[in-house]
Amino acid sequence: MITISNIHKRFHDLHVLKGISLTVEKGKVVVIIGPSGSGKTTLLRCLNALEIPTEGSVQIGDVQLDFSRKVAKSDIPKLRKQTGMVFQSYNLFPHMTALQNVMEGPVTVKGEKPETARGKAAQLLSKVGLADKLDHYPAQLSGGQQQRVGIARALAMDPKVMLFDEPTSALDPELVGEVLKVMKELAVEGMTMVVVTHEMAFAREVADEVIFMDQGVIVERGAPEQLFTSPKEERTRQFLQHLK
Ligand code: ADP
Repeated sequence: MITISNIHKRFHDLHVLKGISLTVEKGKVVVIIGPSGSGKTTLLRCLNALEIPTEGSVQIGDVQLDFSRKVAKSDIPKLRKQTGMVFQSYNLFPHMTALQNVMEGPVTVKGEKPETARGKAAQLLSKVGLADKLDHYPAQLSGGQQQRVGIARALAMDPKVMLFDEPTSALDPELVGEVLKVMKELAVEGMTMVVVTHEMAFAREVADEVIFMDQGVIVERGAPEQLFTSPKEERTRQFLQHLK
């Protein structure tokens, strides 16, 4: 479902991603861990061309872009349409209700009829446990509820892949579980997911593969059980040790 090959990203003199290659099969969950500043967010943003890689290619579903060549501006939205992204800060429209937030993309970007989009949005909000909050504005919702609206909003675009960038980092500890539960349900249903998170218990339980990044490279990858209990690389071991 996802193949990225030899991705480099430079911000001026700063070489943030140094040749990342990765394949994610359909229905699999990949969790990316690593120290702050190692390039996790940048990698995720390169996957949907929120950042344009300096080099390398990204393929999601049947859309492939080779950034080592000149990529037509009109091709970028094709890649973006394949993915749904959930951010640390929920980024909901404050002047729209939960329902309106979820309908917005399908109506304005995909040109769906409002009635159709409304029905689908209500269904998605009920799927994330917010059937009774359709008409609430973001300010009337807890952080966990806002983030679940964020997930419903991403799903409303029918993405092939869901990308999560530290979706629970901004939440009070007691609200983290409700968001992880929704993510776990999505994984069980077979959604292909790439998740940047510090929630190691989630990684252990839900990930098919865990990737440890440091200083712009993939240092080590493996099944969660293997990577967490017997990491091969010293850098991985040190990072995991730090978390304890
Ligand atoms: P992580 O998600 O692992 O914490 P990031 O991908 O956010 O790491 O950042 C990796 C490095 O890239 C950091 O040094 C960060 O300051 C830098 N960086 C990220 N985005 C930009 C940007 N838009 N412009 C300049 N530097 C950036």
